[in-house]
Amino acid sequence: MRELAKRLAKAEVISVLTGAGVSAESGVPTFRGEDGFWKGRRAEDLATPQAFASNPETVWTFYDWRRSLLAKCRPNTGHSALAELEGLVPRMHLITQNVDGLHQAAGSRCVTEMHGSIWRVRCQSGCGEHEDRRTPFPPPLPPRCACGALLRPAVVWFGERLPLEALEAADEAARSADVFIVAGTSAVVEPAASFARLARSTGAYLVEINPEATPLSSLADDVIREPSARAIPQIVDLRKQSWADSQ
Ligand code: NAD
Repeated sequence: MRELAKRLAKAEVISVLTGAGVSAESGVPTFRGEDGFWKGRRAEDLATPQAFASNPETVWTFYDWRRSLLAKCRPNTGHSALAELEGLVPRMHLITQNVDGLHQAAGSRCVTEMHGSIWRVRCQSGCGEHEDRRTPFPPPLPPRCACGALLRPAVVWFGERLPLEALEAADEAARSADVFIVAGTSAVVEPAASFARLARSTGAYLVEINPEATPLSSLADDVIREPSARAIPQIVDLRKQSWADSQ
């Protein structure tokens, strides 16, 4: 913790990569694990371009249901602390794998959503039409764009490429970071996890926040085995305190 305090005090750029675990204490199920979201479901049937092509109605019913669950969830103290951190460092990058919008709801302004957002829909044909959507679509499903093509959730499905801007933002976040914090991710989804490795190899001090070990744990300079709603506010307090002490 002493080294972390020193690094936080000096940091000009702090980058944070979050995963499903940071929303767990908001009541959002994680992806894998005991209460994981995909337990008892097959991602291939619901979150792939092939599933959408063969059964768009089922996929839309699933996404409308997920949005109705997420609409009841509120940011937790981890999300709020990250929003506060934005105002405490010269530059901060927040990269999330989450599609739930809880970082923005907590007040974070600069968020890169690597896997899109469940609160947006876009035209499948690529005509450029997109809209923010918080409520379920009226029947009949699937909804259609004015151009006639199907509308789809603006999330990245299994087997799809990540948006180029998101990859570029994550690359910049990794290369420029003095401290890189990876919180609540199992670090098995690529390329997201590889940005933590890139950050470490280009000189960042790597901190992992996760109650469980991950493939990144052995690489991390500091590992905090606590839930993120407790650990992230502690890190933000440490930055405030160590920065004040260093002035
Ligand atoms: P994951 O489910 O694979 O891993 C979650 C990780 O969080 C685990 O390592 C677990 O030990 C850890 N964790 C659980 N509770 C925690 C807590 N309170 N504090 C800190 N860590 C905790 O999630 P992932 O690595 O983000 O997987 C990637 C995929 O999951 C992404 O594609 C993402 O889009 C998708 N996803 C997003 C949401 C969301 O938007 N909230 C929810 C489920 C899945």
